[in-house]
Amino acid sequence: MTPLADEEIKRILVVMAHPDDCDFGAGGTIALWTKKGIEVSYCIVTNGDQGGEASEFSLEDMAKVRQREQREAGKVLGVSQVTYLNYRDGSLVPTLELRKEIVREIRRAKPDRMVVQSPERNWERIFASHPDHLAAGEAAIQAVYPDARNPYAFTDLKESGFEPWRVRELWITGSPQPNHFVDITETFSKKMDALKAHVSQTAHNPELEPMVRSWGEKNGEANGLVAGRIAEVFKVVNTD
Ligand SMILES: [Zn+2]
Repeated sequence: MTPLADEEIKRILVVMAHPDDCDFGAGGTIALWTKKGIEVSYCIVTNGDQGGEASEFSLEDMAKVRQREQREAGKVLGVSQVTYLNYRDGSLVPTLELRKEIVREIRRAKPDRMVVQSPERNWERIFASHPDHLAAGEAAIQAVYPDARNPYAFTDLKESGFEPWRVRELWITGSPQPNHFVDITETFSKKMDALKAHVSQTAHNPELEPMVRSWGEKNGEANGLVAGRIAEVFKVVNTD
């Protein structure tokens, strides 16, 4: 699979279920994109209030902490804007309401490319397939096709000024069948800095860096990179 050339891409919207999903799944790639001058924005679907093992925060405080941490992590990678849809963590389903909210965000951000989570369960890496990830991925893909481009879908959005928009390409994280890899060795330290900005989720784990590095090295190896190179993998789908 050969994706569109980055030179053809002006704006990218990343839609993910939880704060930190962008950074785990695609942080190195996002850093490469913003370095090239591509505008990247995030839409985070849940407030992340069930995340982590730290019990020092109430559910409500945890949501605030996680939003602040995600904004910090976004800054590290050069992300221009973070929008939160504020669904409850842990109970996400791909409803029409969610789909419509993502259509609105697509029409607002006008992305050429989107990064979303796989709605297909990955049996090799069960943690990539949290039910919220499957739901956010399904709703986002339904929003890309057919709704965001269709003037007859959610007509009240068009009446409020959100004009139809055609997303050209999807990059799917956590897919059981990736068909594209990005060598992120150069931006791996940025990815780690972004992950470390999620203090409530990652500070307790001294193994974070070796763990993320070994996942990335396995991705590199599986794609024929020399030992020690680090990669992120995606299923790239043409939606034009
Ligand atoms: Zn997640």
